[in-house]
Amino acid sequence: MFKRREFLKYAGIGGAAALTTLSSVKVSQALVRWKMVTSWPPKFPILQDGAELFAKRVEEMSGGRMKIDVFAAGTLIPALGGFDAISAGTVEMGSSASYYWPGKVPAAQFFTAVPYGFTFDEMTAWLNGGGGLDLWNEIYAPFNLFAIPMLNTGVQMGGWFRKEIKTLDDLKGLKMCIPGLGGKVMAKAGVSVVLLPGGERVPALEKGVVDAAEWVGPSHDLRLGFPKVAKFYYYPGWHEPGSQCELMINKKKWDELPKDLQAMVRAAAYEINNWSYAQFEVENAKGMAEIKRQFPDVKFVKFPVDVLKAFRKITNDILIEEAAADKTGAFKKVYEAYLKFRKDVDPWGEIASRAYFKAEELK
Ligand code: CA
Repeated sequence: MFKRREFLKYAGIGGAAALTTLSSVKVSQALVRWKMVTSWPPKFPILQDGAELFAKRVEEMSGGRMKIDVFAAGTLIPALGGFDAISAGTVEMGSSASYYWPGKVPAAQFFTAVPYGFTFDEMTAWLNGGGGLDLWNEIYAPFNLFAIPMLNTGVQMGGWFRKEIKTLDDLKGLKMCIPGLGGKVMAKAGVSVVLLPGGERVPALEKGVVDAAEWVGPSHDLRLGFPKVAKFYYYPGWHEPGSQCELMINKKKWDELPKDLQAMVRAAAYEINNWSYAQFEVENAKGMAEIKRQFPDVKFVKFPVDVLKAFRKITNDILIEEAAADKTGAFKKVYEAYLKFRKDVDPWGEIASRAYFKAEELK
């Protein structure tokens, strides 16, 4: 909080004008105290850390005017209880991912990740420059929700397999933990998809209950112990090329929040979004080196090109099916906007970022 003398100094004015301003400052200094629930377990690296850092930043920026109490998954409500609790206003905000709500808003999956969807760069461009965020908030408004992008994982890994995958036929009959649309693609490729929370995937692989499982990337996967129980670590994470998480806020509470606090919340969320991406890049590089050091028998393997092509084709079929199944029309609307943005930016991406990555002379 500003002390009176400091305020006068910063205001650079004196007398009656300063007093008028002081009284309005006093009104807006009322403490705002919000609850934030997350979908991340306590101490979950980067994601839960990021949610807590966000709350700290808002408190710092607001000089203590806004305090946010952060509750990790299961400490106030269950991991996936945020959508309903925030929509109803039981809690004001949450840190989660919009692809956790396919049963409520199927179209929201596009704003986290769809298979063969956007990378961090592309998602950032779509949301902030290509109308994506407006569209996201348009489909959230009927649920009394407001979204700001916060936390991004970067490109994930394709998952851990107990045996090598050389052709599409090698996938048939395998049991794999892979949620969401990626799981639907795998199911069409003949995989039997099993849904298990992150912490149960390693024991399931170890006991042979499943033959494969995806999680996040080298840093998080190493912590859970995946390299001990499976030896083929496939890339790239075609199903999650840059999962964008969300800060979701009760829209009514958001609209009532003073404009300056709204600006601080937004600024802090964007800072944490960048911070998280940086953390994932740095920590995954370390995790990869550590896996290679501790588990020399683990092989980092690229999915065969034919398998990746087949996944891509099945993805297109599934997105068309999902659009037809969503009778609200929202999925079709977002899908078309996503395809249009892709078409608009692809020619530039081809000669800019992708050309740069492919340039042999840079290696
Ligand atoms: Ca994942």
